[in-house]
Amino acid sequence: MRPFVFERAGSPAAAIMAAAGRAQGAGEAQFLAGGTTLIDLMKLDVMRPEIVIDINALDRTTLGRIEADASRLRLGALVRMADAADHPVVRRDSYPVIAQSLLLAASAQLRNMGSLGGNVLQRTRCTYFRDISYSACNKRNPGSGCAAMDGVNRMHAVLGTSDQCIATYPGDFAQALIALDAEVEIIGPAGVRSLPFSALHRMPGDAPDIETTLRPAEIISSFFIPATPWARRSLFVKVRDRESYEFALASAAVALDLVDGLVRTSRIALGGVATAPWRAERAEDALRGKPVNEDTARSAAQAAFAGALPRQHNAFKIELGKRTLVRALQGAAALPV
Ligand code: FAD
Ligand code: SF4
Repeated sequence: MRPFVFERAGSPAAAIMAAAGRAQGAGEAQFLAGGTTLIDLMKLDVMRPEIVIDINALDRTTLGRIEADASRLRLGALVRMADAADHPVVRRDSYPVIAQSLLLAASAQLRNMGSLGGNVLQRTRCTYFRDISYSACNKRNPGSGCAAMDGVNRMHAVLGTSDQCIATYPGDFAQALIALDAEVEIIGPAGVRSLPFSALHRMPGDAPDIETTLRPAEIISSFFIPATPWARRSLFVKVRDRESYEFALASAAVALDLVDGLVRTSRIALGGVATAPWRAERAEDALRGKPVNEDTARSAAQAAFAGALPRQHNAFKIELGKRTLVRALQGAAALPV
């Protein structure tokens, strides 16, 4: 057991202040939402925060609310996965890819506990990252090497990898947010800021331990999803080793804007195959102006994986990822919107 300071924040300002170290002195701080990632990794001794700040009381603010109007959907970061998936506006055909990505994640118990903010910030499931008996992990211990490169890397990424880290980003909801052009609102010591959700996560590059563009003591407060007509023509397809309670081997979240059967614009995000939630812009370009059929979907999938770099055990993910995307595109095109 490692000692740590535990604090319950009663307001966003108090949470930010505690994390910024002004109240406590110093040390690495982590926010506690559902705890299904954080507590897990603390018990494994992978994450060792000196201060844990429980932010659950902030669900009395916008962080705990779901609001929808004609122009957009706002999902507070402390909303539980199950509650978001069950919300009438999300369910009622308006944002199908959101509900699908959440319902295909984890188990009912975890979805009742896990928050949306915690979900997008969950850490990789790389075995070498989660098991501290392996010393070589650049993400956990910068500069130590990467045991997965020449180890068992069946679950690892083929897109967005670097020679420092090939760990897969494990979540599902993030891909849905990218497919719908969501924004994320962040509060921190310098005030409120927003950015496209696709700019929240970083590729591993030469610093795989830095996973997001969040600054110290910042809290995700909400996700904003525009109510575009094409959000209704959105779909999430997830392929995994077993039908439930399992992370993706490959997933695709797609949203299509079709005019007279031709793609005016599309958003395509891939999961299970990349080091971060992955927007497949080359695939989007390949589809523009075309109908969606087996041939065009396959061409888009080829474009999506053109730069894929397999390791010893994960080359199968390239073909699996392509097939997953073809299924998602054809499924979305066939929706009776
Ligand atoms: P916490 O554990 O409380 O927090 C996670 C991290 O986010 C911490 O670092 C915390 O400090 C930070 N944080 C939390 N909220 C905020 C905020 N608002 N602002 C800034 N920082 C914040 N997920 C999937 O998507 N698909 C799956 O198939 C899936 N399967 C799973 C199977 C198992 C067995 C388990 C244990 C988990 C699985 N998950 C899956 C992951 C699960 O969905 C996440 O653990 C959960 O969503 C995290 O939310 P939380 O509120 O519990 O986060
Ligand atoms: Fe660590 Fe990344 Fe290598 Fe896994 S793939 S061992 S997380 S550096």
